[in-house]
Amino acid sequence: MSQTITDPVQAAEELSRRIERAKRVVFFGGAGVSTASGIPDFRSVDGLYHQKFAYPPETMLSHDFYETHTAEFYEFYRTKMIALDAKPNQAHLKLAELEREGKLTAVVTQNIDGLHQAAGSMNVLELHGSVHRNICQRCGHVYSAEWIMAREHEDGNGVPVCPECGGPIKPDVVLYGESLDDDAVTEALHQIALADMLIVGGTSLVVYPAAGLIDYFRSSGDLVVVNHDATPADSRASLVIQADIAKAFDF
Ligand code: ZN
Repeated sequence: MSQTITDPVQAAEELSRRIERAKRVVFFGGAGVSTASGIPDFRSVDGLYHQKFAYPPETMLSHDFYETHTAEFYEFYRTKMIALDAKPNQAHLKLAELEREGKLTAVVTQNIDGLHQAAGSMNVLELHGSVHRNICQRCGHVYSAEWIMAREHEDGNGVPVCPECGGPIKPDVVLYGESLDDDAVTEALHQIALADMLIVGGTSLVVYPAAGLIDYFRSSGDLVVVNHDATPADSRASLVIQADIAKAFDF
């Protein structure tokens, strides 16, 4: 039977109690984990976005757009995707703590902001890559997000070029039209299959491959969903928390 909690304090108590009981916890998170740190969900269309860019996000985040409109892609990338001022919130920090205690084995994330690592998490499986890795397509040299930001006013309309070899640089971020990081997906499925508790947080579970991943979780395990709105997994979950994710992890 599924239990639903909307009160954040009660949610944190119940989540803590269940984690205490579990042996192998995996966390699977989406955009909601980052929006709690003030990072806008760049895939969602908002008013601010419409004022600045002439294309919808799905277009600007496509591989084709990167190839054909590289300068505009980088403007969008710098403005909407890289958020160097963002700080980990209580959910990030608690998950890192649970890993240090040997309770949590992996964080699987759809986010690209590196906030789990900033909070101290070690085993972070980034299904959509990271803005903190920007790779020369010719020599493989890796550049940081800070380096990309600093090149904004260089020649080439802000399109960064590898200083080592002159090759083009592409963010190690999965764009529309590209496949997910195979190694990350394989390891995520492995960790989810071994877990006895799976916490799904900050995702509506409608975007591929989120919905499919939880099918690898054993049906006898403790499935907890933390999200503001209802998700397709709620009926399968033993606990549904409809509250702020940072507050739910405040224990
Ligand atoms: Zn290079």
